[in-house]
Amino acid sequence: MSASGIPVHNSSATGAPEFATDGHGWAELLPARRPTPPLRGSHRVPWAVVGAGLTGLACARRLGELHPGQQILLLDARQVGQAASGRNSGFVVATSQFAGAVLPGQIDNYRRINRINRTGLDLLSAQVADHGIDCQWRREGFYHTAADAAAMAEYHHFVRYLDTLEVEYQTLDGDELRSLLGTGIYRAGVRIGDGALVQPAALVCGLADSLPGNVSLHEQSAVLGIDGAKPLTLRLADAEVKADRLVLAMNYEAPTLGILRSRLVGSTLAGSFTRVLTEAELTSLGSLGDWGAISLHSGGATLRLTLDHRISIRNTAEYHGSKLLRDDELARRQPVHRAAFEKRFPQLAHVPFEFAWSGVEGISRNGTNFFGRQQDNIFFAGGYNGSGVSRGTAFGTAIADYASGEDSQTVSDCLASAPGAWLPPRPLLDIAAFFIVRSRFRGVGLDR
Ligand SMILES: Cc1cc2nc3c(=O)[nH]c(=O)nc-3n(C[C@H](O)[C@H](O)[C@H](O)COP(=O)(O)OP(=O)(O)OC[C@H]3O[C@@H](n4cnc5c(N)ncnc54)[C@H](O)[C@@H]3O)c2cc1C
Repeated sequence: MSASGIPVHNSSATGAPEFATDGHGWAELLPARRPTPPLRGSHRVPWAVVGAGLTGLACARRLGELHPGQQILLLDARQVGQAASGRNSGFVVATSQFAGAVLPGQIDNYRRINRINRTGLDLLSAQVADHGIDCQWRREGFYHTAADAAAMAEYHHFVRYLDTLEVEYQTLDGDELRSLLGTGIYRAGVRIGDGALVQPAALVCGLADSLPGNVSLHEQSAVLGIDGAKPLTLRLADAEVKADRLVLAMNYEAPTLGILRSRLVGSTLAGSFTRVLTEAELTSLGSLGDWGAISLHSGGATLRLTLDHRISIRNTAEYHGSKLLRDDELARRQPVHRAAFEKRFPQLAHVPFEFAWSGVEGISRNGTNFFGRQQDNIFFAGGYNGSGVSRGTAFGTAIADYASGEDSQTVSDCLASAPGAWLPPRPLLDIAAFFIVRSRFRGVGLDR
């Protein structure tokens, strides 16, 4: 237990937390980027932010704007682009999907979450445009699809939900989807025009490389412990930081510093990319140059035809101790990706996958998100249950406002997140998390 009362948790046998990464993500599709140097020596700053994913980047950017005369230190254990923010499927949602029938008592909650999403989407749109970030950003919406009976039931719920919330949408039947996406597997779908598709690693790298001048980013700089109260002391392998205020944007790894230990856990997802398709192969996919399709079933596949002409398919999710999959484990998941790809695109059965990737998303038992003060001068935002690109950006911006004493509609919306449901300690946690993740596949059928 540290002096501030925050227990310091070490997860490896050597006593140091593990911040594994690998060479299989969307970052590997980009030209190599030179990371910022690891932090060394002693530092005294007014503000420190831990975690340079979308949440931490948005938070540091906003703190930099709010406090132009102050230094903001942003630390990440890995290289930017190697965590969930650079490994997601790149759907920047405006309108969230909620499984099941529309619940009249939840309508304000749906509206609140969608306000947060739209705030994040607008912020990202502006940042991409203002800084000329080259990340295949396309704000032209995407598709929500259904193939099997359970997803068709969700389709009807979803249409009712969109009507209730007065969101503009277009319904499509199987033939229309076939001519747009080149697959005959779907029976019905919905296109929502607001929402963006993006190359996620290019987005976070571009955001990291365009931070305000008073934000210093240090990659490969893991915070190993937090001591003291005023000022806080952050311990790193080769550095020590004294900070007045600290924002933790560490997603499912917050428990490694003793935060939300029995509330937040990681679920490991995996997908594969094809090689770049030829012109003839692209023609067989219908009339769109790029597109994204999210399953209306929570266990269904997420598909993209990327602007650089690869198909990406992601359809496994599991509890794996909040860790990435090793190469041999990824190789065992790839046949699941392959089967889903070939049943959708038999005309492309000859097209090989170039590689598979995994990523870890932060989930809670009750599907809530986390926002607010953890202790006196320590704040946390994160845990978006697989929908954190727009939401993480809004939460990150709002936590900077909140920690600075500023108010806004987004701060109020984020503060209204339900408390996280309790998760038991290990080893029961492993069993509970296994069942929570597995439950998303119930009835998935053809949609997987
Ligand atoms: C495969 C996959 C697909 C997804 N698809 C989508 C999608 O299409 N659309 C969508 O909206 N969401 C999607 N998500 C979810 C989304 O990616 C996340 O919700 C979001 O990126 C979380 O952002 P974050 O900044 O909070 O966390 P992260 O991106 O996880 O960043 C946290 C950072 O904290 C750092 N860190 C942790 N501990 C320490 C420490 N002790 N010291 C220093 N640094 C530390 C980590 O290295 C990491 O960089 C997906 C997630 C996955 C895994």
